[in-house]
Amino acid sequence: MNSKSNGPELRAAARSFSPYVPGLSIDEIKERYSLNQVIKLASNENPLGVSPKVLEVLKTSGCLSFRYPQSGVPRLTRAIATHHHLPASMVAVGNGSDEIIDLLVRVLADPGRHNIVAFKPCFSIYRLQAKLAGVEFRQAPLKPDFSFPWEELLSLVDANTRIVFVTSPDNPSGYCPPAEELERAARALPSSCLLVIDEAYMDFCDDEAAHSLLPRLREFPNLAILRTFSKSFGLAGLRVGYGLLPEYLADVLTRVHLPFSVNILAEQAALTALEDMDFYEKTLATVREGRKMLSSKMRELGFEVLPSQANFIMVRPPNGLAANDLFEKLLQKGFIVRPLKSYGLDAYLRVSIGTPEENLLYAQACEEIIG
Ligand SMILES: *Cc1c(COP(=O)(O)O)cnc(C)c1O
Repeated sequence: MNSKSNGPELRAAARSFSPYVPGLSIDEIKERYSLNQVIKLASNENPLGVSPKVLEVLKTSGCLSFRYPQSGVPRLTRAIATHHHLPASMVAVGNGSDEIIDLLVRVLADPGRHNIVAFKPCFSIYRLQAKLAGVEFRQAPLKPDFSFPWEELLSLVDANTRIVFVTSPDNPSGYCPPAEELERAARALPSSCLLVIDEAYMDFCDDEAAHSLLPRLREFPNLAILRTFSKSFGLAGLRVGYGLLPEYLADVLTRVHLPFSVNILAEQAALTALEDMDFYEKTLATVREGRKMLSSKMRELGFEVLPSQANFIMVRPPNGLAANDLFEKLLQKGFIVRPLKSYGLDAYLRVSIGTPEENLLYAQACEEIIG
């Protein structure tokens, strides 16, 4: 790290900042192992790619690139509100839900005074953005079966806790707590603390109604829900996510964010994605079927497979095979999955659900390696 220079000194939080660790890219692996074909099951992207209708719109919208988008993307905000049967005043759209996470930290928590609480391990952006903001980050270890120890979490909450982040379904385990658990947590938290439920993967759940508080959002004054276009809508590269929030928070987020953080093509694409429910439903069906198929296939091969409600499964290889060895061997065969070292789960891998064909090829590759 070259942090030493003659310029102004960096803040301590910036000096010691270690960035988000993304999945490897297809081109990287093609080059490293001289492969023609690489299958990426590492970043929970949409197995069906981009909706054909979105692709059409992107082709014809390039000519708008010289224009600034409308600040606050009001058309998309209204479309999202309609999609969830909520008023537009409860929606804040961002450059991925990552931006909403970052903004919530910065509008709610004072550095050196307030704290933020989450489970451990958790989606690393919560910790990273808290750290960059200079805000204390507290974590309660998940139970051995990766379910949520609410008592431990609540014991970390005090009068200075401004946010509790919970991911449901959870990343990387795929665990999805029942809605009643979340309701109890929301009611147990002091009103000075916002419960943020990150539902990036909720639409892949077999029974959304039993697991999401979204339909009842307005009953809870201290509840926010995050959703994204990156997974089920297939727009990870365009960066659109949103928060469904109490009005005063949606209002402040749309006032403090950089004016054009959602670009004009991303807005067009997201608007069209919301209209292409055929593609969306096909995605959900593909993921749900693939998840069932791949989970049972992996179990047949002797893997431990955590029950998942997301578009990925977390697995532990059989016969004492180290997860990292399997990861390397899969790379050589042209399959990229996600090692979980950065989550502190060295024994496990996370595998995104692909197309039926990709899932089959992946299972075959595992079978060959395990022998
Ligand atoms: C993928 C993911 C997101 C989505 O992030 P975007 O910035 O919207 O792409 C949010 N939370 C979790 C837990 C995720 O895994």
